Amino acid sequence: MNLESPHKFRGLVGQAHRVAEHFFRPISRKYDKAEHEYPKELDMLAALLDGMNAGSPDAVGAGSASKRGAARDEAPGVRNGGNMSALLGVMELCWGDVGLLLAMPRQGLGNAAIAAVANDEQLQRFGGQWAAMAITEPGCGSDSAAIRTTATKDGDHYILNGEKIFVTSGERASAVVVWATLDKGLGRAAIKSFVVEHGTPGMTVTRLEKKLGIKASDTASISFNDCRVPASNLLGNPEIDVQKGFAGVMETFDNTRPLVAGMAIGVAKAALDRTRQLLKKHCAMDYKKPLLSVSHAEATLYRLEAEWEAARLLTMKAAWMADNKMPNSKEASMAKAKAGRVANEVTLKCVELAGVMGYSEDELLEKWARDSKILDIFEGTQQIQLLIVARRLLGKSSSELK
Ligand SMILES: Cc1cc2nc3c(=O)[nH]c(=O)nc-3n(C[C@H](O)[C@H](O)[C@H](O)COP(=O)(O)OP(=O)(O)OC[C@H]3O[C@@H](n4cnc5c(N)ncnc54)[C@H](O)[C@@H]3O)c2cc1C
Repeated sequence: MNLESPHKFRGLVGQAHRVAEHFFRPISRKYDKAEHEYPKELDMLAALLDGMNAGSPDAVGAGSASKRGAARDEAPGVRNGGNMSALLGVMELCWGDVGLLLAMPRQGLGNAAIAAVANDEQLQRFGGQWAAMAITEPGCGSDSAAIRTTATKDGDHYILNGEKIFVTSGERASAVVVWATLDKGLGRAAIKSFVVEHGTPGMTVTRLEKKLGIKASDTASISFNDCRVPASNLLGNPEIDVQKGFAGVMETFDNTRPLVAGMAIGVAKAALDRTRQLLKKHCAMDYKKPLLSVSHAEATLYRLEAEWEAARLLTMKAAWMADNKMPNSKEASMAKAKAGRVANEVTLKCVELAGVMGYSEDELLEKWARDSKILDIFEGTQQIQLLIVARRLLGKSSSELK
């Protein structure tokens, strides 16, 4: 087992770190203060990223973390592909700023969904889009099987009706991947996802949220009133396969949950690095000393660092499994549960360890504590990830273990 970051991605990691340090950090506070203002500086960066990705076998970004992004190398042994490169990039970029990463054009979770389930023709059509992901509704959050937005077939179109809330990049993205049911009576199997481009008649952004953290990222409510989309915008299989149930649309999470865990690892590393610097003024930080003989502050930092490392390794394993075409739903949920929890604890403890510096807006520590909370909520909360892990371990279905 090799627990190092893959050698071939070191260049990418270095580049992502420099972007985080020189591009994100200097504007971090500015967009924390200016909620709902688009960080226009990102346009240039997104164009650069598009250039880096064009023709690169190991692209970075949400769209490369998918089944298609799995390593192409068929030789036996360790294989690392798009899932690992996207994860490593995300970790570094979120060391810079989670909100700004989420606000990056063409890096939406809808892009990952398109990459995971679109056919070749759809990939061609939607490849250049910036796609948000709309699952949550006023009456449905964790229990995504309770979706009420409907999609009714009408000739070679579907007509969408319903309301989506808390859609990350829902206003700024050029398209939204919308989950809707073809038949409420048929339960999970009837839930399909549709790409709806902004400007489609019947689709309206109705509200922007004011939030605790990730203020650089817009979070929108969107209503669909007789919104007509081409039938060819349905992602995946249009048939209702009761045997396969929810599996089709849920597959996306195997690729996206490790990425959200990676965001948590990035922001937690930022807090640890800064706190270590601040503590160095007062503590020896001699890692060779036994834990019992160091100060409480040092001992706390060492424990947090160990937790962080455990979260990082679990997350890399989940992404590595995806690259090696192994079923990874359990590991993706384990990684997200661990990393989300660790990031929340680390960032808040770092506020505490840094004393007044931790609480002051002169430092970014308080911001990171606010930003990290969402990483334990979206793409499935802490409790839901634990539920999924328990179901997988015990061999229970979602109706047997709720
Ligand atoms: C900033 C932000 C951005 C978001 N972006 C998106 C997005 O882009 N797209 C999108 O579709 N959604 C998005 N969401 C919504 C997010 O995915 C949901 O908030 C999340 O899934 C939880 O749903 P809920 O808020 O309705 O909570 P609920 O499902 O009502 O849960 C409330 C609490 O109960 C717990 N709980 C629920 N069910 C169980 C159970 N069976 N066992 C144990 N505990 C349980 C939950 O863990 C949680 O702690 C976003 C949310 C926020 C805040």
